[in-house]
This record gives sequence, C-alpha cells and structure tokens, in this order.
Amino acid sequence: MSSGRITPRAQRVIQCCTCHRVRAGDAWEIRPDIVDAVISHGYCPTCYEEALRRVKTVASETSTRQTGGRAAILATY
Ligand SMILES: [Zn+2]
Repeated sequence: MSSGRITPRAQRVIQCCTCHRVRAGDAWEIRPDIVDAVISHGYCPTCYEEALRRVKTVASETSTRQTGGRAAILATY
C-alpha cells in the first residue's frame, strides 16, 4: 500500500481544516511559507470545540425531526 508520494525531505505538518493554521509544537500559527509540506488535516483546539458544538446542535435538531440519523447529520454538516 505504498504510494511513494511521501519523500524523505518533505516536511510533515498538521493543518486545521477550518482556520488553516498549522500546528507548531503546542501553538497553532498561520504559516504561508509552508508550501511543499505533506499536510494532514485536522482541527485546532479552537475549531474542534466549535465543530463539536455544531455537531451537537445538528444532532439534537435531527433527532427531534427523525430524519434518518447519521446520513442527515453528515449531509447537514
Ligand atoms: Zn482552526
């Protein structure tokens, strides 16, 4: 299952998929200079909390409407 796309010299970073900040140790920073890195997308702590809040809101709305559970949550979010 080796794709060969990850080169030894490529920098690996984790980027928030919402605010696009990049993890730098314990901090999250905007880094426009990082262009050739291997990027994994995730959530920074701030956006994670916001995403969790939105999912819970959608889930509670969906459960009261009885509109198909998980598929409805994914489609709405
Ligand atoms: Zn973020």
